[in-house]
Amino acid sequence: AHLAFAQRGRRLGDPNHGVHIDSNENPLGPCDAARQAMLDMVPKGGRYFFDMQDDLIDLFAKQEGLDRKAVRVYAGSSEPLAYTVLAFTNPSRPLVIADPGYEAPMFAAERTGAKVIKVPLADPKGAATHDTKAMLGAAANPGVIYVCNPNNPTGTCTPRADIESLVAGAPKDAVMLIDEAYIHLCDAPRSLDFVKEGKNVIVLRTFSKLYGMAGIRMGFAVGRPDLMDKIDYFGSNFMPITATAAAIASLKQADLIETRKKITAGTRGETMAWLKGQGFAVTPSESNCFMLDTRRDGKDVLKAMAAKDVYVGRIWPAWPTQVRITVGTPEEMMTFRKAFGEVMAGPAA
Ligand code: PLP
Repeated sequence: AHLAFAQRGRRLGDPNHGVHIDSNENPLGPCDAARQAMLDMVPKGGRYFFDMQDDLIDLFAKQEGLDRKAVRVYAGSSEPLAYTVLAFTNPSRPLVIADPGYEAPMFAAERTGAKVIKVPLADPKGAATHDTKAMLGAAANPGVIYVCNPNNPTGTCTPRADIESLVAGAPKDAVMLIDEAYIHLCDAPRSLDFVKEGKNVIVLRTFSKLYGMAGIRMGFAVGRPDLMDKIDYFGSNFMPITATAAAIASLKQADLIETRKKITAGTRGETMAWLKGQGFAVTPSESNCFMLDTRRDGKDVLKAMAAKDVYVGRIWPAWPTQVRITVGTPEEMMTFRKAFGEVMAGPAA
């Protein structure tokens, strides 16, 4: 059933043609070491290699200074995200999320019957960060408070002090779900220390973004073992050996995060500067996506772009004139610029 969560965002167009900057993927794909590690695993695909998964957990736990019992592997972060909502929300324990924000927690809440309380981002025309004060006051007994840092779709980071006050101020049995899918792309403080301090916090990491392994599938859920046991109930923790080997190889590449962070930042900066030069507002992203205010019905812009084989991301009902743009390769972004310029030079539909 959880596949339904992922499939809501199905893309338009043929993935083999056109420019696909609609799903916050990394056009670089897996790093060379990860590719080689997967190739090396293929002939051994008849084996389970149980130990290799432990090696991955040990490596990540050591790198991050975590107790290995706090770490679980999943096929990406979608599953533990959904399972956390399934485990800790119900008709009397609502889900609190930011708006615009990543929708997956909301889809999971539909299955538990939990009320979803959407809290608008603070300073929407400026920093567009989570309004943590309003999120704290939004429900008397929240089951899950979801923070996406950097946020999808805006790419904006919420200040550490705000996240700290949310963790400190949340009711003691509420679970804070901190989604760090895009954290490697920015310099914002990480949230794993809340887990080390024994807080009611679950942090999600994925190899789908900076590591370019969205289709390979690997991610971590990190939290106190008693919280992890509750989400384990919903799914399997035994991952393909190809993905496991690729994840180990990626974590061992010391300069990968810095190199790729710079590549994304460079292309993002050039694209955003060009758009601003054309008079369009964009969110101050530190990630691989940002919101672009087209000042038209965003749905029409999306359609007109798709007609030019340039597929940009979706619309959030709270911001109907804005569309989400993923940072692709420099070449893809030049094609995007040309198509967007042509669309905006034409009449609004
Ligand atoms: N969390 C956020 C904020 C995302 O944007 C995504 C994917 O776009 C995910 C989680 C899920 O990705 P995956 O399951 O590939 O890790």
